[in-house]
Amino acid sequence: MKLRKVTAAAATALVLSLTATACGSDDSSDEGSSPSGSGGSETIKVGIKYDQPGLGLKEPSGDFSGFDVDVATYVAGELGYEPDQIEWIETKSADRENALSRGDVEFIVATYSITDERKEKVDFAGPYLLAHQDLLVKADSDIAEGTDLNGKKLCSVTGSTSAQNVKDEIAPDAQLREYGTYSECIAGLQSGAVDALTTDDSILAGFAAQDQYQGQFKLAGLKLSNENYGIGVQKGDTETLNGINTALEKMVTDGAWDKAVQDNFGPADYKNEPAPKIGDIVS
Ligand code: GLU
Repeated sequence: MKLRKVTAAAATALVLSLTATACGSDDSSDEGSSPSGSGGSETIKVGIKYDQPGLGLKEPSGDFSGFDVDVATYVAGELGYEPDQIEWIETKSADRENALSRGDVEFIVATYSITDERKEKVDFAGPYLLAHQDLLVKADSDIAEGTDLNGKKLCSVTGSTSAQNVKDEIAPDAQLREYGTYSECIAGLQSGAVDALTTDDSILAGFAAQDQYQGQFKLAGLKLSNENYGIGVQKGDTETLNGINTALEKMVTDGAWDKAVQDNFGPADYKNEPAPKIGDIVS
């Protein structure tokens, strides 16, 4: 599609230069260029999670599903890329800033909370969702609030705000186990290696609703933090950032955001917050 656009633009330019002798512009038009100025590339690399049902999941079939995937697909569409031009790249929690700095991906939609610390290394479009940190425990567990965690084995993921919040304030005396992904934490919770898993309620609801975990786990229903999900871009890439913000605004006004919410959070019965306004961070 992109190549076809470039070809069409080039063909138009050729016709114009042949028919209008005074037309000396060699500007090949913006039509086919990527928003970051990388220009005319055939695909766009987008970072997502691969193991978070309802948000970013690589299905056994090789397809990708989830709210983040739908948001990313919509945004890429507005930037001029068809779904089959998107190259999905796994960006685990601890890898996101580096993936952007190295230029491995154009943007990241991966339950990526906007924080001041991260803003020193990357820029964020959005926010596009507000989630809250919560706990997932076994259905028969008596852990009900943050203070119950002290002395208990608690799993979260390296490089996440969830792990940092535990250390800083929620339960500094918990035995925090930091794994590489949330699916590893779920396996630990199932086997009894850990007593609880903490991260965003959006992620926990998605796991709890999986067929293989039916009836096994429960969410505590706590709002331990505000997690404003942004779309990460390379620091200083204002062009992509602005393009993404425009796309996100359109996604909300044309109803695609609501549809993505229903499609992806409906099955998990996750009660999400309303669509945030661009630039509106809940602290
Ligand atoms: N939203 C939190 C964060 O960005 C936790 C989820 C995650 O690790 O992706 O750190």
